[in-house]
Amino acid sequence: MGMTGLVYSPDATFAIGIDLGGTKINAGLIDEQGHVLSTCSLPTLAGQGSVPDRIIETIGKLFQQGAGPDVPSIRGIGLASAGQINWEKGSVHFSTDLIPGYTGTPLRQILEERFRMPVFVDNDVNVLTLTEKRLGAAQGLRNFVCLALGTGVGGGIMADGRIVRGSWGGAGEIGHMSVDFGGLPCICGGVGCLEQYASGTGIGVRMRRELESLGRNAEGVDARQAIALWQAGDEAAARVMDETFQALGSGLASIVHMFNPEMIVLGGGVAESGEIFLERVREETLKRAMRSFTENLRIVPAYRGNHSGMIGAGLQLWEYPPREPVFTGEGMH
Ligand SMILES: [Zn+2]
Repeated sequence: MGMTGLVYSPDATFAIGIDLGGTKINAGLIDEQGHVLSTCSLPTLAGQGSVPDRIIETIGKLFQQGAGPDVPSIRGIGLASAGQINWEKGSVHFSTDLIPGYTGTPLRQILEERFRMPVFVDNDVNVLTLTEKRLGAAQGLRNFVCLALGTGVGGGIMADGRIVRGSWGGAGEIGHMSVDFGGLPCICGGVGCLEQYASGTGIGVRMRRELESLGRNAEGVDARQAIALWQAGDEAAARVMDETFQALGSGLASIVHMFNPEMIVLGGGVAESGEIFLERVREETLKRAMRSFTENLRIVPAYRGNHSGMIGAGLQLWEYPPREPVFTGEGMH
């Protein structure tokens, strides 16, 4: 049975979850509880051909190996993609040259025509919000916000039980909320964006600048080392990280006042430095927000399982009402 043996059933126990980044495509068979039956990973080979073809290849490989062939039917395909995603259309609204030529790709349409099953496409942080809602600390909550502090800063906002999407799906770009109108310039054209202070990239840049100003060796120093130095009591690193905590506190206070969430979930490599990190973020947030908004607010670490992006991608098949796939004619044959 080749990949054309993939059978769609709206009641199936398993869905395909796909996490697509600039360098890797991770695919897996997942169930509603976040169990991962099997996984498969291929390089994205950005700029070297069609990304949808590469996704189809990854799904094919997933089904030819491991437990894939034992799964009788599939509920659908959930994709989490890099770039700005139009959720209604399941297409790429805009992508940087991280994946050249990706802008405009009608992912949902291509994959539904190919596999004849429902396909949901969202951005990588919105699906992490689903992982938190269904498996993580935010279970049962209708109002919470997720921040991923990684290479950049991504955000997902759950308000009244639904992800806030805005007019085409771009809402939740918390990394580009300004926390200092006279601050550092940002790649987005803004000034003082949170991402400049709280992303791994931003922490690395500011740490190197700080070390250089002191005549210390800054070569190759990244966020990981900055955080390690801070935890070891280094004063220069403490200045850099204090700025990070103040920026996060300022940003989170604004979010709290805007959305009145019960919980803020912090994930990504930068936030994995543990309880001491979260404690400083709480402290700086509470200083800047009205007490009525913070007295029941919890700031917690993200779901720590592996594959949380891939799982969240697949969970879309349980989160959203069943939907028949759309075809415009040519299908898979
Ligand atoms: Zn920005």
